[in-house]
This record gives sequence, C-alpha cells and structure tokens, in this order.
Amino acid sequence: MGQEYYEEAIQGLKKLLSEKDNLGPLAAMKIDQITSELQTTSTFNPIERMKAGMEYFKKEKFEKETKLFRELAKGQSPKFMVFACSDSRVCPSHVLNFQPGEAFMVRNIANMVPPYDQTKYAGVGAAIEYAVLHLKVEHIVVIGHSCCGGIKGLMSIPDNGTTKTDFIEEWVKICLPARDKVKAEHSNLPLAEQCSICEKEAVNVSLGNLLTYPFVRDGLAKKTLALHGGYYDFVAGSFETWGFNFSFLPHVKVP
Ligand SMILES: [Zn+2]
Repeated sequence: MGQEYYEEAIQGLKKLLSEKDNLGPLAAMKIDQITSELQTTSTFNPIERMKAGMEYFKKEKFEKETKLFRELAKGQSPKFMVFACSDSRVCPSHVLNFQPGEAFMVRNIANMVPPYDQTKYAGVGAAIEYAVLHLKVEHIVVIGHSCCGGIKGLMSIPDNGTTKTDFIEEWVKICLPARDKVKAEHSNLPLAEQCSICEKEAVNVSLGNLLTYPFVRDGLAKKTLALHGGYYDFVAGSFETWGFNFSFLPHVKVP
C-alpha cells in the first residue's frame, strides 16, 4: 500500500516537470525566475532559525544547568505524563514551565487519549504503557485549551457522521461522546461557546478512556498514579485543573 502511494506521488511529480518542459523556453524561464525570486525575497531561513535556537539553549540552559543535564544523561524519571494539543501556542513546557526530564509528553490533534486498542491506537498505547510501567510516572494530565481547531472540527462533523478529511475527523471522533453531550445540553448556544464547553468535555472523555488501559486502572487502585484534567485559556492566560479518580473532583483555577 505504501509503495503504491509513493509511486503515485513520483508519477505526479514527473507529470508536473514534463508539463513545465512542454511550456516552451520562455514560460519555463519565467517559472525559474519566479521560483528564484521567491527564494531570495523570503527572509526566513529555517536552518539559521534552528541554529540560533540551539545556540541560545546551549548558552542559557545546557551550559548553566550542568548538574541537571549530567543527571538527565543517565536517565529520566519524570513525575508527569502530559497529553497536550499539537497547537503551536500551547506547549506545556512553556505554559507550565516543565523543565527537561519533568514531563513525558504526547501531543496530538486536540490532546485526545483514545481507548485501549492494540491495532488502531498502538502509538498512544505504547506511550502510556512506557510512562506508567517503565518510567512509573505518578500523574497523567490531559490538557485542553481555548480556541482548539481540533475540537471545532469535532463539533462541525455533521450528524450523519460523514467526513471530508483523510485523518483529522476520524481521529477527533475519539471524543464524539463529548460532542454529543454538548449538542444535547447546549444546542441553544452559538458554535463558539459550544466549542469552549466541548474543549473541557473532551478532556473528560480522554480521562475516562485512560481507564480502559489495565495498567492505568492498576495504578489508580494502588494509588501510585493520579489522573488530572487541565484547561489552558490562552486568551485570558489562565489554567484550570481538576482531578479524576473513577469520578470527577472539584476544579481549581490559576490565577
Ligand atoms: Zn488544539
């Protein structure tokens, strides 16, 4: 299957290049000119950006906190496992100031934890298994956030369930129970408000899904593991957290 897709992509690329040749020398020259103009007018250099980032990190962190990085070179023993959205604005290392070695992280569209499924969701399952059984994390935190595009996508799936995307909608359907709850209880509200409510409800569905992993249930029963919901509002700059221990515990808001 993978090889077929690869061949198809190569054929598409060859077709594009041959069309360019058939355009005649003048048009081909124009395309080359536009391409080189685009390259020279772009001021963004990704290699330089990454180089500058690494230089900053090395000078300000790596070389200043030698003890920490010497310890981390031997191994990691993070207290947290964190699920966060892939959204570029919500990195938990920034928002919660997690330092290297502090949080084992999974980031995906709309910070979702799928239910236990060895075939469909092996990637997430492997991360949870490793975090709980090998790293022995003490806390799993699922962090939702304001204006989440993935949750908007979930709320926008029509009632008949038809989808238009290759992967996105199938993935966010993990939290369909959250969508259905919000649609049933808040249908009178505008979509934006329904989405805000769903951003938290989806975290609760993920917390429930964590219970489908036997090693998570064991950890909770033995009290070696605790589950938490979290919500980062990047408009207000606030963070809310609540506990989950086979049932929900009260919310605490910071600041
Ligand atoms: Zn998001």
